[in-house]
Formats: sequence, C-alpha cells, structure tokens
Amino acid sequence: MYEIDDLIQLSALQHMAFCPRQCALIHVEQTWTESGRTAEGRIMHERVHEESRESRGDIRIEYGVALRSMRLGLTGKADVVEFRRQQDGSWLPFPVEYKRGKPKKDDSDKVQLCAQALCLEEMLNTTIPGGALFYGQTRHRLDVAFDERLRRETEETAKQAHALIESGQTPKPVYATRCENCSLIAECLPKTIQKKRSVKSYLTRIIEE
Ligand code: SF4
Repeated sequence: MYEIDDLIQLSALQHMAFCPRQCALIHVEQTWTESGRTAEGRIMHERVHEESRESRGDIRIEYGVALRSMRLGLTGKADVVEFRRQQDGSWLPFPVEYKRGKPKKDDSDKVQLCAQALCLEEMLNTTIPGGALFYGQTRHRLDVAFDERLRRETEETAKQAHALIESGQTPKPVYATRCENCSLIAECLPKTIQKKRSVKSYLTRIIEE
C-alpha cells in the first residue's frame, strides 16, 4: 500500500507504456508543450468534463470522476464512467476514455483505461469486466476487456512508473517509429542526441585503442 504523498498521476502509466523517456520528461522534468495535437486532445477532454452527470434509461453517466488506488499508488480522473443497471438492481461501472487520434499499435491507452478500472474496483469494492476507448479521429469506440493479461501488464507498468519517477532519472532517447507520434519530439530530440552519443562513443573508442 502506498501513502498519499507517494501517489503518481494515473496518466503516467500511459506515458510509461508508450515510452519511459516520455514518462520521465513529463513526470520527472515537468516538460510539457502544447502542440496542435495535444491542444485538440485537451479541448476534447475539457468538453467531456464540462458535463457532470446524466441518465439514459438504465445507464447513469458520470463525467470527470475522481479516481484513486492506494494499492497501485495512483490518482487521477476518468473522463466518463457509465454505471449500468444490472438485473439485481446494482450498478456496474464501465469506464470510457476519450482519445484524440486513432487506436494505437501498443497497449498504452488500454493500460491507462485498465488502471482506471482498477481504481474504481478498489474504491467501490467491485469487479469491472470491461470499458471502452473513444477515438476522436476515427469516431470509433473500441471495447476493451480487462482480462488477466491486461491487468498484469497494468500493475507491472504502475510499478515501473513509480520506480522511474522515484529514481528522478530520465532515460536516454532511443529513436523509434513511435517518436513520430510523440508530442515531445521537439524537446526530446531523439535523432540528434542519439547521434551525439554515437560520435562520443566513437571518440572514446578511438582514444582507448
Ligand atoms: S521522441 Fe521518442 S524517445 Fe523521445 S520521448 Fe518521444 S517517444 Fe520517447
């Protein structure tokens, strides 16, 4: 169990699963720039959070729901939680996270959504089988099952994000295709720094020989 002072932002899991360096730049170095892409994402989230709640038949919808897990050491907000009435009269939570772009090849969005479900499970003492990601670019809602594999990956990512943030160290960049979709590429400079490092290691090798 974590203490209140040790909680990290739930969004750090999405950053960690996408790229550990991005996670450290945001959550250790507090680097953040608003590009056109992140501005669109922020406006989309703000629009969602403008509402507070509504009801549609057997579904109650809550917006901007505060979340916390002392077990995983997380705090944050869910864009939307639908509470669906069950046959026995209870309400089953179903988190929905809004994303600007389109579904990613990696699991980073799913990990963030699953972390929201794990927070809700701990807060409401319940079990949540699934949720959904809504992508603005494709206007597509992707259902996500919180199976054992995704739960394990989410818990592991939470541990890694805690360890990284507590270390206060920012990993060196490793250029990959994901960098082209990274909002911090201008601050990270993965190609330039990597090139500088290889020149430096070349010179070190020459001197040593
Ligand atoms: S540009 Fe690439 S290496 Fe740098 S933070 Fe983004 S994804 Fe990570």
